[in-house]
This record gives sequence, structure tokens and C-alpha cells, in this order.
Amino acid sequence: MSELKQSRPKGTQDFVPPDSERRLQVGATFRRLAETYGYRAIITPTFEHTAVFVKSSGETSDIVTKEMYSFKDRAGRDLTLRPEGTPGVVRAVLENQVRMPCRLYYVGPCFRYSRPQKGRYREFGQLGIEALGEAGPLTDAEVIFLGGAFFGSLGISDCRTQVNTIGCRECRPAHRDALRTYLLERREQLCEDCRLRIERNPLRVFDCKVETCRQAARDAPTPRHYVCPACKAHFEQVLANLDRRGLPYDVNDRLVRGLDYYNRTTFEYISASLGAQDSLGGGGRYDYLVEEFGGPATPAIGFALGLDRALLTAPKASVPARRELAFVVWLTEAEIGPAEKLADRLRADGIATQIDYDARKVKGQFKSADAAQAACCIVIGPDELVKGVYSLKNLATGEQREVPADAITAEVRKLFTEQDSRGLVPGTLES
Ligand SMILES: [Zn+2]
Ligand SMILES: [Zn+2]
Repeated sequence: MSELKQSRPKGTQDFVPPDSERRLQVGATFRRLAETYGYRAIITPTFEHTAVFVKSSGETSDIVTKEMYSFKDRAGRDLTLRPEGTPGVVRAVLENQVRMPCRLYYVGPCFRYSRPQKGRYREFGQLGIEALGEAGPLTDAEVIFLGGAFFGSLGISDCRTQVNTIGCRECRPAHRDALRTYLLERREQLCEDCRLRIERNPLRVFDCKVETCRQAARDAPTPRHYVCPACKAHFEQVLANLDRRGLPYDVNDRLVRGLDYYNRTTFEYISASLGAQDSLGGGGRYDYLVEEFGGPATPAIGFALGLDRALLTAPKASVPARRELAFVVWLTEAEIGPAEKLADRLRADGIATQIDYDARKVKGQFKSADAAQAACCIVIGPDELVKGVYSLKNLATGEQREVPADAITAEVRKLFTEQDSRGLVPGTLES
């Protein structure tokens, strides 16, 4: 083989069959689940004006300062490949005057210039929901539960949920002052970034991965102990509802999440099997963001889950040897026409069907059927045409038999069902 001239950029991934199909299936599972909770699809551009992200994620967030793929287009506009889904959704809801309250979900790629490692890529898939216009704690609990249900449906059994509250406009200043005082006393211990954070957003020190910062943060005052009675009551109702739903969780006082727009409930899904990069995703309430975008005061909550980590963590089904695919094989050129007609008929009946138009010999066509992992071949020759039958060959067992022409659809379906018990990959995929 000649040498490859180009490889894919660092931090990106290729998905070839069957991994591409598995990835689509995870997206479809999420979509179906979100829809059962009343969420509807929203599709926004892959890039936005840079200001959309700077305004919402916070000028000092890691995403904005270090990780954005920003560029000028040919007209000199400042644009950025979306590093997360929420800001674009909020922008689109306001721009299109979507009636609120509204429940929306999205599935799509996001981009961050971070150091690639296991489960972390520069282009990655995100699955998200946003409930705009819902204020109550029961919504928080339902949103948290939905994420847990998604991981459950993927067979991820070691997923733990962490929850916290970081307060509201009323009670955050008191905590911020206490935290600032505490951090100023330990300024020498903090990294460059965290020293800047003391003034701008001291809460972020809880997110820092630098060891000395983690030590300094260990005994720092946490938001939960400063929240006002209203925030406290809200959080207690979230937890009570999670208890009622039977979703196990841990309260993590240091879970603040790295974005400026969160308030009150924050949460994260953790998988032990992911090691240091243990987060499967998370979210929180963002009651002030819509207003900051120039919209009406609107309470909101949402989450974003990592498609790549979900794929990495979900148990892999054994790779099936065959697909729900029929291969029509013709013996002589006289049967190409009837073969084509049969293939179109099967397709109209919803059966995936392929023909090899190039291989002149039957043996070559069977080889193609095998390469395509077809479940069966339907052979048409001069004899079959005269008799009004087809030869149906099961490629898993090698068994071959004659089938009346008008029963072919039913027989192929039956064959798929028989092979299904042996782990045939379903042929119909939702994307
Ligand atoms: Zn409060
Ligand atoms: Zn630090």
C-alpha cells in the first residue's frame, strides 16, 4: 500500500462501521429519551459570533481564555466554533422568539482546543437538554434524573451523580467575600490563574487541578453554607425528589462547574471506570443567562453530556458478523434487469438491498456480499426466472433453498429474525 498523504488533525476522530453505527445509536437513544420527557429538537449553527460565548461562559473561564477555536472570516467577523451548546441555544430561542416555557434538546459536535487524552477530543459530541422557563426544584430533579436514566439505558452501571447548590444573586456575594478573604490569605499557594480568579471569580478556584490550589481549596468556605433560606429550601426539595425517585447521589460542596452562568443547583455524572477524566457530563441552573442575552427574565436549567465518554464507558456489544442486508446475485447479464427490479422491490418494502454491478462472476458477487456483511444472498439465474423462484442463501449457515418469487420479502424478513438471535446488527438506524 502506498503511504498515506494526510492523517486526521490531532484531537479529532474517525468513525468507521460498525463504530459509526454505534455512535449514531447512542445519539438516537438520547433523542428518544429526551422526547419522552417532552423535549424537542433544536439545531443551531456550528459557529457563532465570538461574543455569544464570551458573554455567557464568562471572560475568565478556561473555555474562553484558552480553548476556543476562534477565527476571522474573510469579511473580518470574529467567529468561534461552538465550545458548548447552551449559549447558541439561548441566542437562537431569543432570535426566533420561541415561545417559553420550552424544553429543547440537541445532539452535535463541539470544539475545544484542549490537550487530547482518553475520552477527551478537540472535536467531541455533545448531547444536551435545556428547560427554559421552569423555576421549580422538581424540574431540577427531573433533569438530573433524565441524565441518570440515559446512562442507565446505555448499560453504564457505575455512574454516580454529584449535586450541589451555589446560591443566587442574593446570597452569593456573602460567600464570595468570605472565599475571597480566605484565598487572599493563601495567595502564595495559588497558581497564576487562581490569583487572577480571586478578584474576578473566586468560585473557580474549586475547579483548579493544580495540587497546591486543591490543597488551599480544601478548607475554603463552600457556597452551600452561605445560601439564603430560599436557595436552601430549593436544594432540599431537589434532594428529596431525587430520594423519592430512587436516584442515588452524593452532595459535593466543591462542585461549582467552570462556567459563569450557573446558579443554585449544579450537578455532574461521574464514572469510576474513566479514571482521572471521570466526568460523563453535567449541568446546572442558569436563571440569569436569558436576561444577560437581552431576553426576559427566565429561569432555566440544562445539562450537556459527552457522547465520546458515554461511548467509551458503555459496555460494548459483541460485534455482529452480519447485517440486516440482502444481496441480490445475478448469474448472467440477462438477469441484471430482473435483479435490479427485485432489489428496488425489496427496498420499497424496507429491506436494505445491494447488488454488485461490477463483478462478472458469481464468485466475485458472493465475495462482495461477504465484504458487506450481508445476511443473505438472493440468486437469480435463467432457471429461477423460468420457474418463478429465487434461491435464498443464508450466509451465516450456508443453507440455501428455493423461495417462491412472491414470498421473497417475507422469507428475507424471517431470515433476518432467525439471525437476529445470534446478534445481527439492526439495519434501520436513526441519526
Ligand atoms: Zn440564594
Ligand atoms: Zn490554581
